[in-house]
Amino acid sequence: MARSYVAEARRRVGPKRRRILPIIERLAAEHPDATIALRFRSDLELLVSVMLSAQTTDVNVNRVTERLFEKYRRPEDYLAVPLEELENDIRATGFFRQKTKAIRGTMRMLVEEFDGLVPHRFDDLLRLPGVARKTANVVVAERGEAQGIVVDTHVRRLSQRLGLTRQDDPVKIERDLMRLVPRRYWNVFPHLLIWHGRRVCDARRPRCEVCVVNDLCPASRAKASLAMPPSEMSPRSHRELSRKRP
Ligand code: SF4
Repeated sequence: MARSYVAEARRRVGPKRRRILPIIERLAAEHPDATIALRFRSDLELLVSVMLSAQTTDVNVNRVTERLFEKYRRPEDYLAVPLEELENDIRATGFFRQKTKAIRGTMRMLVEEFDGLVPHRFDDLLRLPGVARKTANVVVAERGEAQGIVVDTHVRRLSQRLGLTRQDDPVKIERDLMRLVPRRYWNVFPHLLIWHGRRVCDARRPRCEVCVVNDLCPASRAKASLAMPPSEMSPRSHRELSRKRP
């Protein structure tokens, strides 16, 4: 895309600080069901699900964990079976050897250092083998204690298209988003972008014509904007949205 065209598109939609709340408001109205797609019943199951979700779909992870979580209920259970058995049990999620190694290392540390519980502190989560910033962010966000903003492939793509960041590196994108998105929305914001990415802003064929934020998006290909002008939500709506569990 020509540089002048990009600059013109950015001018047309206005500064990101003015657009961010209308973007959140409209996406929340469009995707009221935007929550995590992984299925889990405890912090341990959440942690394992997120670790398994690397390089595969949430649907695939749910298919595997439905049986996995009946068999492995405590951290010790993951250590009690032979390595090959756990590898076989998670094979369908792909990269099963690395994932098995990471899960076993994490379970060992949970048993030895955290009384078998998933720690609450973000820095402690980051110490667990195979747990990177994205996994730790998902875990704390699901507990309603977001310390940052989860950046996955959808969040990255939509943040760039919406002109919320010019970065490509997930850590730098997260830093930009944390400066821009009010903290009370850190839990829900990634889910809004993820569901909008899945349903409307497809990687290859974004459906800009029917996108509710097309007048706020510098990458829009819509001929005419369908969306209403940015409006302020009532203070009550903002409170309800920020309380919403992702
Ligand atoms: S207008 Fe198009 S590119 Fe922008 S967020 Fe919507 S679908 Fe994606």
